[in-house]
Formats: sequence, structure tokens, C-alpha cells
Amino acid sequence: MTSATAGSPGTTRPDPAPYQRPGGFPVVGVVGGGQLARMMQPAAVALGLRLRVLAEGPDVSAAQVITPAPVGAAGDVEALRAFAAACDAVTFDHEHVPAEGLRAMAELTSVQPGEAALVHAQDKLVMRERLSALGVPCPRWAPVAGRADVEAFAADAGWPVVLKTPRGGYDGKGVLVLDGPDDTGWATADAWFADWAGRGPLLAEEHVAFVRELAALVARSPSGQAAAWPVVETVQRRGVCHEVTAPAPDLDPGLAAQLTDVALRIAGGLGVTGVLAVEVFEVERGGRREVLVNELAMRPHNSGHWTIDGSVTSQFEQHLRAVLDLPLGGTAARAPWTVMVNVLGPDAVEPRHEDLYRSYLHVMAHDPDVKVHLYGKEQRPGRKLGHVTAYGEDLDTVRARARHAAAFIAGEIDE
Ligand code: ADP
Repeated sequence: MTSATAGSPGTTRPDPAPYQRPGGFPVVGVVGGGQLARMMQPAAVALGLRLRVLAEGPDVSAAQVITPAPVGAAGDVEALRAFAAACDAVTFDHEHVPAEGLRAMAELTSVQPGEAALVHAQDKLVMRERLSALGVPCPRWAPVAGRADVEAFAADAGWPVVLKTPRGGYDGKGVLVLDGPDDTGWATADAWFADWAGRGPLLAEEHVAFVRELAALVARSPSGQAAAWPVVETVQRRGVCHEVTAPAPDLDPGLAAQLTDVALRIAGGLGVTGVLAVEVFEVERGGRREVLVNELAMRPHNSGHWTIDGSVTSQFEQHLRAVLDLPLGGTAARAPWTVMVNVLGPDAVEPRHEDLYRSYLHVMAHDPDVKVHLYGKEQRPGRKLGHVTAYGEDLDTVRARARHAAAFIAGEIDE
């Protein structure tokens, strides 16, 4: 059965009646079936909400725990349309839904965040332009269409130069550091320029000699309510988030407040709805610590996984509240320190490590208070398979506990 849709003459959509809404509780759809969609499910269960996921395949991480999970690609406009028609609100596991698909869904339901905000998390050049216009501190940057542009940028900003593809990158893919005109990385850079020739310039950035990386996580609802968690320190391993400490140790309280303010300003200025992660570099300039914004993510983010066990409201619950324009939850930490360590797939999978489940015997016996989260994924080198969280009073102890559990599950230690 189909029915006409208000606001889009001539468009038809499946009648959403087959989807039950006991008690009038809304159905939230998540495009993309990765671990972020998966981790929204416990929060949805607790709130009594129904989740649906548009999954890349029948057995991806979120499809294992959310049903129904129709299979459809994020670039398939018809699949997105059918999915959106069955949901009261749609949100995302990733940022890779093209504008056409976002528009098609917005004709049928509430899409959070909307296209106008999301483009800043999809396109790093658009993001740099907008943040610069808002007066947000960023690394020096320029659009570059070829080698000559990079060399001209380097003449001004100095080597090394960080070259980035504006779209499609994640976990460090699409990020290249060029040390100088003779760097071997130019083979990749030249290939990127050829690949992007018809689509527009790439992004060049100064190579920031940062003291460390931080992240500010905030949430904003369509009616403008906003909430912020404590600023965290993040450590990447080969471009992939590996360890997060909440709050960031030894962070100047003034700088933390300034960074939180920047994140809230970005959320408001860009009209972000849901969770926004602002990844930044902490730098020392002229004897003072400052922050430069690196990246934005408009969805729950790896830097916020610690909130599941470590905060009054997890980022996944907060995201759902924000998407539905419900009042936001408290963001205080439950303990003085929380450390989250990712379980990354080992470089070489030994037979002993094939069965991650068996590691539970040791990890759980070793530390009854450590919390383990695995994502139901096949092992591949460097892949995010899960994470562990520990919290408590003493940072060194908490960190050691989280590191031990993650390293044991990942097969990096075996005592
Ligand atoms: P992705 O979108 O793939 O996560 P990012 O732009 O966040 O890519 O870059 C990944 C990592 O590369 C960052 O976390 C940081 O460690 C490093 N990096 C990125 N840009 C710069 C820069 N301008 N200067 C120094 N390091 C950088």
C-alpha cells in the first residue's frame, strides 16, 4: 500500500503502518550498520525506542542486534527512500550518505543531522572554509589542485605538508604527510590529484607539531538545547583512535572551557543535531597552550565510547535523545578517571587469537571491574573489533587495567 506524502507532490511511499509503535514511541532509523549503530541499541532498548538499521550486509555489526535490518547501500537513493518512509527520524552510523539521498529522506521524515550541517563532516574543504569564517582556530590550510600548489603552500607554511582528500577518508585513510619535494609519498599524491581532477582540489594543511590530541564531545538538539562532556585526551595508532582518557590529564581548565565553548559554537553555528565530536590538536605557541581544530564528526564517535560506562548519559543515549528532540541527559563522569582502549585486530592472526571469546576467561577473571565491548566483527589487521573501559580513582591504575585487557583480547600479550 502506498500513500501520498505531504510536502512532496507526486511522491509515494510505503505505508509505515506495518511498523508497530506501541505507546506511540517513535521508530529511529540508522543508516549504516557498523559498531556505532550497534551501540545505539542498548540505549534504545532502555528508552523503549524501536531502532531500524539500513545495513551494508545481512550480518554486519549492527544487523546482528537490530531487526529488521534491510540491506541497502548508503548511495542507493531508492533504498534510502524506502527506509526513511518507515522511520519517524533517521540518523547515521557514518557520514557517507550523498546529498541526493539525504534530500530524498528529508522529504519523508526527520533527518538528523540534516544535509546543511552534515556536509561539514563529509567534506574537509567545506569544513575548513566554514570554521575559518566562524573564527575557529584551525591549522593553516589551502585548497591545492596539483604539485605546484602544494609547493607554493609549503613555501609559506613550511614542510612537511599534510595532504588530505576532502571526502571519503576515515581512520587516517586519505591523509598523507609529505616531507618535501622528494618524498616517496608523491606517487600517492599524484594518483590522488589525477583521481580528483574532475571533482575539485585537495586540502593541504601545515603539519602541526602538536603536544597531544584532544576531543570535545557535545550534543545539540533541533530546538537548540546543548550539553558537553568533559574534554578527553585521545591517542591514535597508525591514524586509528587507540586510547582515550577522560578527562584529559593536566589540561588547563581555562583551555578546557575554551575548547568546550568552541565545540558548542560549532554545533550552533553549523546547526548540528545529535552528537558532535570536535577533534583538536593541543599546541604550544609562544609559551602558551592553544587548540587547533582538526576534524568534525556528526554522530557518536570513538572518543566518546568511554561515556557508556563512565558518564551519567552515554553518547549513544544522548544522540537518540537529541535526534528526537527530547531533553538531554546529564554528562557528568561517574569516576575521577575513565580510560577506554580499543581492541584492534592484530597484524598476524594466530590460531590462539581466532576465538576472541576465549580471552574473556582471562580478562574477566583478572579484573572483574573492567568493561568489555566487542562488535561482532571478523578479525582483520588494525580493524576496530571492540573496546574496553576501566574507571576509578587513580589514573595510572585505571590506564594499566584498560591497556592490559585490550592488549590481551587483541592477542598482544598472553600472560
Ligand atoms: P581521518 O578523517 O581519516 O580521521 P584526520 O584528518 O583526522 O583523518 O587525520 C588522522 C590523523 O592524522 C590525526 O588524528 C592526526 O594524528 C594526523 N593529522 C591529521 N592532520 C594533521 C596535521 N595537519 N598535522 C599533524 N598531524 C595531522
